[in-house]
Amino acid sequence: MLLFLFLSFLVSTLGKPKLSTNCLSSKFQNPVHQNRKLQNLDIISKLRDDHDAIELASSDYGNMVHEIPASILYPTSINDIETLIKFAHNNSAPFTIAARGQGHSVRGQAMARNGVVVNMRSLKNHRNGFGITVSGTPSMGFFYADVGGEQLWIDVLNATLEHGLAPVSFTDYLYLTVGGTLSNAGISGQTFRYGPQISNVYEMDVITGEGDFVTCSPEKNRKLFYAVLGGLGQFGIIVRARIALEPAPKRVKWVRMLYNDFSAFTKDQESLISLNGRKQKNALNYLEGLLLMDKGTPENWRSTFFPLSDHSRIISLVTKYGIIYCIEVAKYYDDHILNSVDKELQVLFEGLSFIPGFTFEKDVSYIDFLNRVQSGEQKLQSQGLWDIPHPWLNLFVPKSHISDFNSIVFKDIVLKRNITTGLVLVYPMNRNKWDDRMSAVIPDEDVFYTIGFLHVSGFNDWETIDLQNRDILQSCYNAGIEVKQYLPNYKTMEDWKNHFSMKWRTFQERKAQFDPKMILSPGQRIFNNN
Ligand code: FAD
Repeated sequence: MLLFLFLSFLVSTLGKPKLSTNCLSSKFQNPVHQNRKLQNLDIISKLRDDHDAIELASSDYGNMVHEIPASILYPTSINDIETLIKFAHNNSAPFTIAARGQGHSVRGQAMARNGVVVNMRSLKNHRNGFGITVSGTPSMGFFYADVGGEQLWIDVLNATLEHGLAPVSFTDYLYLTVGGTLSNAGISGQTFRYGPQISNVYEMDVITGEGDFVTCSPEKNRKLFYAVLGGLGQFGIIVRARIALEPAPKRVKWVRMLYNDFSAFTKDQESLISLNGRKQKNALNYLEGLLLMDKGTPENWRSTFFPLSDHSRIISLVTKYGIIYCIEVAKYYDDHILNSVDKELQVLFEGLSFIPGFTFEKDVSYIDFLNRVQSGEQKLQSQGLWDIPHPWLNLFVPKSHISDFNSIVFKDIVLKRNITTGLVLVYPMNRNKWDDRMSAVIPDEDVFYTIGFLHVSGFNDWETIDLQNRDILQSCYNAGIEVKQYLPNYKTMEDWKNHFSMKWRTFQERKAQFDPKMILSPGQRIFNNN
C-alpha cells in the first residue's frame, strides 16, 4: 500500500519538473522510516531531482537537445529498475522511462521529458565484484564475459585482458556503455570482419517494458533477444550481456595510405575487406577510411598519426587536390610473429593504388590502439572543446551509390562550404556479418559504407553544420541514394517507417509485445514523438 502511495505521488508529480527531493522525503519520511520491512520503498531514497541530477540527465554529448525529467533513479540493484518499470506499466497513467548509459547520444535519445531517467552507471558500484566476469571452456577455445549493461567497454577490455582475452568487435571510442552500444549496433574498423558488437552477443538479461526480468538468447526468448539488439532501447533495459571473447594479441601494426582518386580508394578498401573470414590468417583486423580536407593540418581531433616531418608534404597534397582519401588499417600480432606480419602486410598491399611514398606506419600496443581516441578526448577536454554542441551525422550508404555520394556530398556540399573542422569517416562493411533478425537497420546490399560526419563545432556554428547535415540528407534523397541513418534521429512517424522500411511492422509488433504502454526510451521519438 505504501509503495503504491509513494509511486502514485511520483506519478502525480511527473510532468512537474521542479519537484524537489526534500518534498518527496518530507511527505513520506515517517511512513518510510516506520516501515523498513517494505523493502521496495528503498526506491524512494534512490530517486533524485536535485539540480545536479536533473542537469546531467537533461543533457548529452550532442549538447543540442535538453529535456527535463521529473526524476532520476540511481539504482543499486536490478530490482530497483524492475520495480520502477512495473509500477509505470501498471499505473493508469504510465510515465516514460529512459535508461541512460554515458549519455553519449547526440540528439537526446537517452532523455525522458517529464519521465524518469535511470542512471545505469549507478549500478556499477553495486555489483559486488560481479560487474564483469570472464568464463569459458579453454579446451574448446570458447570464452565469454558476462558484463552489466552499465559497464564501459574500456573496463570490459581491461578486465578481459587480465585473462589474456578480449572482445573482438569494438567502437572507436571505448568510454561508452555496453547497453548503449548494443542498443544501436557498435561499429568500428573491426566490423567488416567480426560484425558489429551486436553480432557478438550470446545472451542477455533484459527488463522489459512490463517490468519482467527475462534471460534471452538465440535459443531462449529469441524474439526479445533479436528485438533488443539494435533496438534503440525500445523493448527493454539490458542489465547483462554475454559477450564473445577471443585470445588477445599483444601488438598492432597500424598503417595509413593516401589516395587522390576516390574510385581507387574505394576499390582498394573493398578488395581489402573481401578477405574477412574470422579465422582467415592473412585478413586485416581493422579497416577504416577518412577524408583529409583541412589545409592547416592532416591530423584531426581524434588522433595524431602522421610524423610531424611529413605534415607539409601531406598538406601540399590536400591543397592540390582539395580532398585526400586515407585508408587506415590494422593488423594484430604477437611478438613471435613480427617478421611474418610485415610480410603478410606486404602481400596484402601489393597491387593497391595509393600515392607512392604516402604510406605511414606505427607499431603500438593492442590497448593503445584500441584506446586511441582517448588522447583526443583528453586534448579536447583540456581546451574546453569536449562539452560543446556535436551536430554529428552517421550514415550507411549502399556501395552502388558511393561514387555518387562522393560527387554530390563530399565535393559539391562539404568541400564547397569549406566545413573541414572535425573528422569525416568513410569505410565499407560486409552485410553478411550482420544478422537481419536484429532490429538494426542497414542498406540492402552486400557491401555498404559507413560515413561519419564527426564535426567539432563552436557554440555558434553548430547550426551551420546542422544545416549542412540536412542538405546532405535532402541531396541524397533527391539523387535517389537510399541512405540509412546510424544512431538515427527522425521527427515524424513517417520518417521512422521509411527508416525501418521492411522491418517496421516487426518493430511495431515487438513494441506491442514487450513495451505495450510505450514507456521505454522516449528520447528516440519513435512512439513518443509529440
Ligand atoms: P546513451 O547515450 O546513454 O543511450 C543511448 C540509447 O540507448 C538511449 O536510447 C538509451 O535509452 C538506450 N540505453 C542506454 N543504456 C541502455 C541499456 N542498458 N539497455 C537498453 N537501452 C539502453 N558508436 C559506434 O557504434 N562506434 C563508434 O566508434 C562510436 N564512437 C563514438 C565516439 C564518441 C566520442 C561518442 C560521443 C559516441 C560514439 N559512438 C560510437 C556512438 C555511441 O555508440 C552511441 O551514442 C551510444 O548510444 C552511446 O552509448 P551510451 O552508453 O552513452 O548510451
